[in-house]
Amino acid sequence: MFKKILIANRGEIALRVQRACREMGIKAVMVYSEADRDAKYVRLADEAVCIGPASSTHSYLNMPAIISAAEVTDAEAIHPGYGFLSENADFAERVERSGFTFIGPTPESIRLMGDKVSAKQAMIRAGVPCVPGSEGALPDDPVVIKRTAKAVGYPVIIKAAGGGGGRGMRVVHTEAALLHAVQTTKAEAGAAFGNPEVYMEKFLQNPRHIEIQILADTHRNAVYLGERDCSMQRRHQKVIEEAPAPGIPRRLIEKIGDRCATACKKIGYRGAGTFEFLYENGEFYFIEMNTRVQVEHPVTEWISGVDIVRTQIAVAAGEKLPFTQRQIQLRGHAIECRINAEDAYKFTPSPGRITTWHAPGGPGVRVDSHAYTNYFVPPNYDSMIGKIIVHGDTREQALARMRTALAETVIEGIKTNIPLHRELMVDANFVTGGTNIHYLEEWLSQRD
Ligand code: ADP
Repeated sequence: MFKKILIANRGEIALRVQRACREMGIKAVMVYSEADRDAKYVRLADEAVCIGPASSTHSYLNMPAIISAAEVTDAEAIHPGYGFLSENADFAERVERSGFTFIGPTPESIRLMGDKVSAKQAMIRAGVPCVPGSEGALPDDPVVIKRTAKAVGYPVIIKAAGGGGGRGMRVVHTEAALLHAVQTTKAEAGAAFGNPEVYMEKFLQNPRHIEIQILADTHRNAVYLGERDCSMQRRHQKVIEEAPAPGIPRRLIEKIGDRCATACKKIGYRGAGTFEFLYENGEFYFIEMNTRVQVEHPVTEWISGVDIVRTQIAVAAGEKLPFTQRQIQLRGHAIECRINAEDAYKFTPSPGRITTWHAPGGPGVRVDSHAYTNYFVPPNYDSMIGKIIVHGDTREQALARMRTALAETVIEGIKTNIPLHRELMVDANFVTGGTNIHYLEEWLSQRD
């Protein structure tokens, strides 16, 4: 096992990985920007290295600074967390070329899955069902673009091959709007992701976002840990996640989960990963794969009893998965609310000093957050300051525990989205379960 790991991230996930290292007896090296100098996990660190000023480009995205930090501290491996460089194949390559282990899949897997066009093609070959659409990237020829849209059927969605974080997507309802939408998405994708390639999919009207968590080792073993329902979204960004997904027959989950695990073996995947699907009328349609740990991993950890971060580290060190598919038993129900420093209904960011931080507790409550009283939320990064996760024997019990946890939580000094979560936890349709990806936006528009 590794003796020392460098954690190339910040915020709650940096703390989460640090905790896993502690538990495993591994020393953790934290890197931080000038804006994160006072973070608690930096003070708690075995070693900490400042890698640059506040701006992400000069710190958490600064590959030479991160690799030098690993060199000067004699770390053996680098955990990239999520976001930042976690899905950057060039970074994974540079890490390995510099003699460190990248805690994640091979650069080839990241590259294959990082381009959504090549990812879909690989999944089709591996027998995973995809959303119908253009076979590959859209060509420049307007005649071909129009013909493709007609064949797919309106409405269609134009998506950037290199897109992520809910950006680089445009829905088109009519042929009149098509070419302009393709041009604009291409220009935006080129500027935002350095790759102007776009592709087309049928825009599904009422789908749910269901994803399958997988874990794979370097000994040709791969298992799936059930599914998560992440349909509660705003601007294609997840707000609440839960596991299992209410109302989906287990045999359908088992069938798609099995396909995902098989696909991992086919492409030689290693580490943790997530296959994201849209689910409509009893059918799953693959949309993309994330080749890293996800924000919402705790809901799966709770129902499966598997520590995903710990397993990531173990398989990166060459260990075999310590369980087989048959040994994975899911138990109870888990729900996660993402806590953001923002206005609950206008969604404008609300960075600043937290004057009171009182986290909830009690049976079945887990809080993953790096925040505390007097913590300053820097304006430079995304607004998520933590996650409240609950578990119950049933969905009803989990909902009750989340309502209690949200009622106990006190965060003062900045605005948060807790009032939104409190309302959603008593919303009749959410309580019933199975709302689709458009539900939250419709709910918000009716509320105005
Ligand atoms: P990103 O990498 O930016 O997260 P995804 O491809 O995972 O992009 O899509 C994010 C979200 O956008 C989905 O969860 C869903 O809400 C919506 N979306 C993507 N593709 C489609 C589609 N074909 N039809 C309807 N909604 C879609």
